[in-house]
Amino acid sequence: MNENKIFKIVKTWKIKKTPEYREFRCAKCQRKIRKAWHVWLNKGGFKLEIHFCNKCFKEVKGKK
Ligand SMILES: [Zn+2]
Repeated sequence: MNENKIFKIVKTWKIKKTPEYREFRCAKCQRKIRKAWHVWLNKGGFKLEIHFCNKCFKEVKGKK
């Protein structure tokens, strides 16, 4: 798992101030997904849960 690659994706997000109640959306391609890969990151004590569709998860997980 390439965490830096994931953080680069996270940095492209626009943070909203209000909570949202919705289906999962892939962190990378923004596709709506019913089942998501849940990835937990921990950087500097800051924990973050993000979701990926199958396709993007394979990319992120890739052995490169
Ligand atoms: Zn995706």
